[in-house]
Amino acid sequence: MGTGTTSEKADYYDILGVAREASPEEIKKAYREAAFKFHPDRNEGDEAAEEKFKEAAEAYDVLKDTEKRARYDRYGHDGLQGVATGDFSSFEDIFEAFGDIFGGGGGGIFDAFFGGGGGRRGGRRGPRRGASLKVEITLGLEEALKGQEKTIELTRREACETCEGSGAKDGAKPVECATCGGVGEVIQAQGFFRVQTTCPHCRGAGSQISDPCGTCKGSGKEAKRREITLRIPAGVEDGSRIRISGEGDSGEPGGPQGDLFCFISVKPHEVFERHGNDLICEVPISFPQAVLGAEVEIQTLDGPVAMKIKPATRSGQVYRMSGLGAPDVHGRGRGDLLVQVDIDVPRKVTDEQRDLLKELAKLEKSAVRTQKRTFIERLRDAFLGD
Ligand SMILES: [Zn+2]
Ligand SMILES: [Zn+2]
Repeated sequence: MGTGTTSEKADYYDILGVAREASPEEIKKAYREAAFKFHPDRNEGDEAAEEKFKEAAEAYDVLKDTEKRARYDRYGHDGLQGVATGDFSSFEDIFEAFGDIFGGGGGGIFDAFFGGGGGRRGGRRGPRRGASLKVEITLGLEEALKGQEKTIELTRREACETCEGSGAKDGAKPVECATCGGVGEVIQAQGFFRVQTTCPHCRGAGSQISDPCGTCKGSGKEAKRREITLRIPAGVEDGSRIRISGEGDSGEPGGPQGDLFCFISVKPHEVFERHGNDLICEVPISFPQAVLGAEVEIQTLDGPVAMKIKPATRSGQVYRMSGLGAPDVHGRGRGDLLVQVDIDVPRKVTDEQRDLLKELAKLEKSAVRTQKRTFIERLRDAFLGD
């Protein structure tokens, strides 16, 4: 399971330590435990823990979604090609995506993170930005070089249409939270200490909705399925990341939308190999073509092109076809096509060809003898002198 081109990626079930038939509750519980164990607050500066924390978020993002989980079960990591998943390159994005799940009711681990004075929610620095999403796309070399429009489907959290993101019914204004008096933080006594933490009631918003919107149940968000057309620029390279600004989840009312990141993989091509903006290929030529020179037709990405083979071409010699390489992704012209010739030895020859080759061999033998004689003659000249 989970094999294919991305088989080096760890299995999502293994990451969370759950069985493949685990229930959504078991998965959520396992994620909560993993997130707690590898939480950056408890593992400061520990890069392995940071990696595990991000990995767990990615696994949870897929396994919590029925559709993504079904694709993953059937096709492994490859099944998620072209499907938007959460982008968890930063902690912020993880908290942005899953903060809600853990926050409610106080005592959630993310509340602990956001609380304690310096928390972002407590800080109230304007409305929060939406979470980023990512999508992995694999292209053939031709597609990558020519540029491509790809339509992907994704589910993202958008502002609820009914309440326009406010979470309140029929334009009812949110009222000041009674628990924290609108501050968004409360002081809690913990043993000898008094700790300022995010208000468990309004979760830092400072306000609450008395009459929640029926569509979104007060969250102000609803999951929307969207088709997005991505314009992949010509010349895009394997491993590049394209940022599509503002196509992620919606932020809080007044806050910006998250971004969508598109991770590009380019499949190896059977003829062309890319080195920077140059393309390299190998073209077989015959022995007579190599010796006498010829004009051969070679396949390029621009269609067939005639190439001149100079007389006395050696095997392995490289011809540079200017401007027939990959287009520069930033629009700075094109690379070259480097054609390496390979002198082909025929497996089968006709009787006529064999006779001619024998003739040639005969001639070559005499030529060799002549050369040897000349060499010996030169030696004789050198040592015996006049
Ligand atoms: Zn409150
Ligand atoms: Zn609503």
